[in-house]
Order: sequence, then structure tokens, then C-alpha cells
Amino acid sequence: MTSASIRGNEEPVDLTIIGAGPTGLFGAFYAGLRGLSVRIIDALPQPGGQLAVLYPEKFIYDVPGHPKILAKDLVRLLVEQASTFNPIFCLGERALSLRREDTLWIVETDRSAYSSRAVLIAAGIGAFQPNRIGKPEIDQYEGRGLYYVVTERRPFRNKRLLIVGGGDTAVDWALNLRDFAAHITLIHRRDQFRAHPGSVAELMRSNIDIRLFHELKAVHPGPDGYIREAVIFNNRTGEETVIPVDAIIMSLGFKADLGPIKSWGLETVGNRYIKVNARMETNLPGVYAAGDITAPEGVEPLNLIVIGFAQAATAVNYAATYINPQAKVFPGHSSEMRLR
Ligand SMILES: Cc1cc2nc3c(=O)[nH]c(=O)nc-3n(C[C@H](O)[C@H](O)[C@H](O)COP(=O)(O)OP(=O)(O)OC[C@H]3O[C@@H](n4cnc5c(N)ncnc54)[C@H](O)[C@@H]3O)c2cc1C
Repeated sequence: MTSASIRGNEEPVDLTIIGAGPTGLFGAFYAGLRGLSVRIIDALPQPGGQLAVLYPEKFIYDVPGHPKILAKDLVRLLVEQASTFNPIFCLGERALSLRREDTLWIVETDRSAYSSRAVLIAAGIGAFQPNRIGKPEIDQYEGRGLYYVVTERRPFRNKRLLIVGGGDTAVDWALNLRDFAAHITLIHRRDQFRAHPGSVAELMRSNIDIRLFHELKAVHPGPDGYIREAVIFNNRTGEETVIPVDAIIMSLGFKADLGPIKSWGLETVGNRYIKVNARMETNLPGVYAAGDITAPEGVEPLNLIVIGFAQAATAVNYAATYINPQAKVFPGHSSEMRLR
């Protein structure tokens, strides 16, 4: 064992799942159903993947059994379902490397190293990083009124809010918070939005103070060190305006990057997908992949939640037979099991 792999004091589990998006969460539940012990790792501090970060307040209409469900509610239910079998959650940890040691796979993260008999990669479109403005004098207010990731409305109740950006996330949060915050100003550096046209039309009809061709220049704190003012400027005239604000949502988009996964010896399709067969096996024995990160042989990748669920179930059923060659691929029907 290398120093990195013995740093974690963790016992090996049957299955390490990389990614706690919908695919990884359902995979965790399913592995529990198959009697496998599970560790689930995600770079984000909260589970839910794209649903939690990119569109928590949007309705989803194509999840079986839910005629319509808010993305954040689906995440809550998936976490509840996954928790049935008490998987170990390692959130806020980015998986950096994958290697074989004897009969185990070792996943090394930026915090520790974990071993398991098999691995399921459900890393979606990679570890998300919010795009930053690149000005340390502004970024220093993260935690003091400046937000790059928003997961709930609560911090903005009765606050004077500035939203920076013109994509779906900026527009959705502006609409979502319009009757909740005391006042909202939305600035966008162009006059074209990259958001759903219906949402943009709603934004234009709303009482939100929209300033096109405007960018954020500086932030001023109050005596408590929290944001109290923002200096914005018109990028065509240079004219500056100081507006009173208590909170700023920086909605500059997210970088998705397969990053370290590209160097794990996996066969890929371009820079975007891991190649898998119909069993969701990668070219590495005992390493499976499911969800948005996969390109199954012979078919077009379909980046949908429902496809990720089915692929996770397939991957876990085959992983169960890899871990225990006596096990059957078919799990039996859950309706015939007693779970709680
Ligand atoms: C705006 C929007 C609306 C959508 N609407 C719908 C819809 O209505 N219906 C539908 O079916 N689909 C919809 N989708 C697509 C759907 O969200 C994806 O298909 C789904 O999220 C894929 O799930 P996943 O678990 O495979 O990946 P993700 O949700 O991307 O989750 C992957 C997780 O892996 C983590 N991760 C990645 N790399 C690492 C690493 N190295 N270490 C640790 N963690 C890592 C990431 O942080 C992330 O949390 C929508 C997508 C968007 C952007």
C-alpha cells in the first residue's frame, strides 16, 4: 500500500460509487438491495449532481411515476431511498485517481484513499466548478454575502439582491426569488439571454430591475464585513452606479470537466464519455460506468435521468456477480423482499 492508500482508515467496501447525482444515488440504493456495502463520493458538498446545482427549482416531467416533480424534491427522495442501506457518503471530495492494488480498486481523493472490490463511475459531466469572476477582491466575499452556488431560498429572504448573469440559472433564481427578496437587480453583460425563452419573457414582464450591458466592478462591505454595496458599470459607456445590496448571486455558469478521470486508463469516446458495453462494463475489470458519463457501444448516448437509473441497475447487477461469482445477475423482485 502507498502512503496515500493507508491514510484513509477505512475498511474496503464492496462498491465505490463516484458521483452522487441521480445515477449514483440510485446505484447506491440498488447496491444495498443486492447486499453490497457502498461508499459514494462526490466533489460537491451536497448530493444531487446537476439537479441540485443547475436546476433545483425546475420541474421535471419525465421521471416514471412522477407526473411532475421539482428537481430538489427528486434529489431528497433519492437520498432517502439510497439511505435505506446506510451507504457511506463522502461529500466535498474529488476523486483524483483510480488504481489496482492486489484484489482491490483504490480511489484516491483530495482528502483520502478508499478501497473497494468494484467501482461504479457515475460522474455525469464531470466535477462541477462554478465559473468565477477572477477578481480576488470580489471573490473574498464568498461566505459574506457572495454566492456562486445557490441551493435554497432562505438566505435571500427580504434581502436586497444582485444577480449577475444571463443563463438559465440566473433567470430562474431571479424569478424564483422575486417575491421573496426585498429587491432584485439583475445585470447581464450582453442584451441576449442564454435562458429558456419562456423564462426570459417572464423575466421581462416582472418587476425585476434588469440592467443589460452591465457588469460587476467592485463590492463594498459594511462594518460587519458583509456586502453592503455593489459597484456596477455599463460596459458600453463606462458609467458606474453604486447600488445597495445585501447579497450577490454570481451566476456565471459551471465548468464541467472529466479532468482526472481521463487519466485512469479507461477507454473513452472523445473527451466526454467512457465507453461501456451492454453490461455497463468499462475496459477495466470490476470498473463500471453509468449515467451521463457513458457512451454505450452501438447507441447514441441519451443524457436523461431515467436512462441513468436503468444503467445504474444494470451496472450494479453485473458488479454483484463480479464481486461474488456465485451471485446471479437477476436480483429478484424487490416486491418480494422485506426491506424495513
Ligand atoms: C437545466 C437542465 C435541465 C434538465 N432537465 C432534465 C429533465 O427534465 N429530464 C431528464 O431526464 N434529464 C434532465 N436533465 C439531464 C439530467 O440532469 C442528467 O441526465 C442527470 O443529471 C445525469 O445524472 P448523473 O448522475 O449521471 O450525472 P450528474 O447529475 O452530472 O452527477 C454527477 C456527479 O458526479 C460528481 N463528480 C464528477 N466527477 C467527480 C469526481 N472526479 N470526483 C467526485 N465527484 C465527481 C459531480 O460533482 C456530480 O455531482 C437536465 C439537465 C439540465 C442541465
